[in-house]
Formats: sequence, C-alpha cells, structure tokens
Amino acid sequence: MARLIVTSPEGRQTERELKGTVVVGRSKDCDLPLAGDVKASRNHCKIEQRGSEFVLSDMGSANGTRVNGEKIGQRIVPLEEGDVIVVGGSKLEFHGAGASGAEPSGPGASGGGILDKVKGALGGVFSKGKGGGGGGVGGGADGAVFGDKTITCSCGAVLSTAAKSPGQKVGCPRCRKIYAVPGK
Ligand SMILES: [Zn+2]
Repeated sequence: MARLIVTSPEGRQTERELKGTVVVGRSKDCDLPLAGDVKASRNHCKIEQRGSEFVLSDMGSANGTRVNGEKIGQRIVPLEEGDVIVVGGSKLEFHGAGASGAEPSGPGASGGGILDKVKGALGGVFSKGKGGGGGGVGGGADGAVFGDKTITCSCGAVLSTAAKSPGQKVGCPRCRKIYAVPGK
C-alpha cells in the first residue's frame, strides 16, 4: 500500500495511506489537512492514483509544490519511491510499495532507515496448491494423499485401493482425476 510520511513544520511525523485522490492543503476539508501550516494554500496540491501509479499536481497554490527540491509548476508528476514533496512548510515523503514482489532488501541496502518499515505483505501469497496437473497418471504433486488402502484425492474424495493391485489405475468418482495405485 502506498503511503506518505508527513512531517509538519514543527517536525511532527505522521503516516498516511494513499488511495484514490488525496487533496493536500491547509483547509481542514482536505483529504490530507496540514493544520497550522501557514505557507500552504487551502487546497495546495493533489495526489491521484492512476492504476498502480500515483501522480502529483499543484492546484494553483501561492507558494508552489516542490518534488525533491524542484518546483513542479503546472506539470503532473509521477511519484517514485522516496520522493520528497514540499508543501508550504510541510514535507511529504512518498513510499510506493509497488506491486512487484520486492525483496526485503539485502544487507548492503544503503542508509535510509525508513525502508525497514516497508515490510510488505509477503505472506499469504504462497501455497494455493499447484493447480490441476492435467489428467496424468500418478498424481501426488497436487495434494493427493496415498494411504495404505486408500487414496485421498485432492478434491477430498477417498478412493479405496484395497481391491486394486499396484500400478492399477483408480479414477476419482467426484473430480475424475486418475491415480495409479502405489506399490507396497
Ligand atoms: Zn477427486
């Protein structure tokens, strides 16, 4: 999830998630209000989500919006990981947490500190089974469990192999997968 780390003119840091369109400014009606930042315009700039990307544009502010020290003027600027946006006396640091499965940065990852926080939800992505491996003989890789006198199909059905000999084929009555009876 993309987010901003907001540093107020007094140096107070807060974090905020980015989603959809976020209007930044001094007005308390802004999606991201910079309360007490007298140099910020009421509606200063906005950050819009475009697919997996976020773009920044100035909303005609009196003092302009800067990204990494450069005034953006009327441009629409795509934000990149680590970009620092300056609005009035406030600083907004952009963290994209891109969709690509970013590795949790090796030991050499140059100083930055904040990167450590980007743990990303790496869990859960794994294991969803391997999906049907075609009606091949043998099975096994797809979650079937071969017991002594039974084969538990990946669909959950239990097939009896008591009357079968090793190598013989057994079809699952429920999902039609075919297994070979394992040898003893
Ligand atoms: Zn089955």
